[in-house]
Amino acid sequence: MIGFCDTTLRDGEQAPGVAFTAEEKLAIASALDQVGVQQIEAGVPAMGPSEREVLGRMASAGLRAEVVAWCRAVRSDVDAAAASGIRRVHISIPVSDLHLQYKLGRDRAWARGQIHDCVADALDRGLAVGVGFEDASRADDGFVIELAGELSRAGVDRLRWADTVGLLEPSGAYERMSRLVAASPANWEIHAHDDFGLATANTLAAVRAGFGFVSTTVAGLGERAGNAPLEEVAMALRHLLGFRVDLDTTSFRALADLVSRAAGRPVPAGKAIVGESAFIHESGIHVDGVLKAPRIYEPFDPAEVGARRRLVVGKHAGRASLRYALREHGIDADEGVLGPVLEGLRSHASMLKRPLRSSEVRDLYELAAASWAAGAST
Ligand code: MN
Repeated sequence: MIGFCDTTLRDGEQAPGVAFTAEEKLAIASALDQVGVQQIEAGVPAMGPSEREVLGRMASAGLRAEVVAWCRAVRSDVDAAAASGIRRVHISIPVSDLHLQYKLGRDRAWARGQIHDCVADALDRGLAVGVGFEDASRADDGFVIELAGELSRAGVDRLRWADTVGLLEPSGAYERMSRLVAASPANWEIHAHDDFGLATANTLAAVRAGFGFVSTTVAGLGERAGNAPLEEVAMALRHLLGFRVDLDTTSFRALADLVSRAAGRPVPAGKAIVGESAFIHESGIHVDGVLKAPRIYEPFDPAEVGARRRLVVGKHAGRASLRYALREHGIDADEGVLGPVLEGLRSHASMLKRPLRSSEVRDLYELAAASWAAGAST
């Protein structure tokens, strides 16, 4: 079984312009807990007393999920986490020379000393400790493998491999991570960003390579183009890779709505799994197929993610959709009238830039039926 560490409340909140209130954070944590993620990465204690207070409230809220505080590899961050009442920390250390030299003016020896020091401090305080390798995708794998071995022996129980700038592609990632897992059989977690739209694909590649934990955010909210979306990763693991996913996926739609409201970012209509149009059918061929058997044009039952199938009558409607829509008004459509009605609704839908409402379809039909009857009687 694959474990989920959801970081909507940490990486998600770092998306530009997003700022959750304390109450929103607690509500999202509770919703994530009900969905059943194993860990909730909830914030950054170094941000100050109000963040630490929320972390403390969350840690004592009786959630089943473990609440995790995100720390830089500096002692004061670990101290702040411990003071907040949190019992698990994630300590992040940059591992690429690019980050070490140009961001911090440091080198690999410094990184090694720093992470060992912070891990020892956290373990001394009785905290559970995971370590994140920032910018691992641009780091030397040999260095990462050495650190992974040392940290696992020191008592770190999870290692996050971060594709911080979203530079992986799935086939290369699979080969590289397979070598990583073989060289250092630690408890690996993938943290993928979506800069090239490949976060979910790269996350699946990591799982196939033997990673046991995935880092996700609701609807992919996160820095820049965001992170691997929880709902995409979960459904793809279940349906495409055949893994058991012990999450209440029926809450995915509601969870995405909750986070999108708190983030002030509407979920795009065409977003996979949680977008409004993910289970709406309009084109005549598709509606005809779905009415025969939904799986003809649906990857899985929408109820599985708390969504509902909808058939709409728009520019691309066909006779099957029209007959279906009219039956809802108790009208058994006259075949001879359907042609003119389709013509009429195509021009209406193009003009309105939306599907027609059920009552509009009925009105169009009644108008066409009346003129057809008048024509037939003369
Ligand atoms: Mn990130």
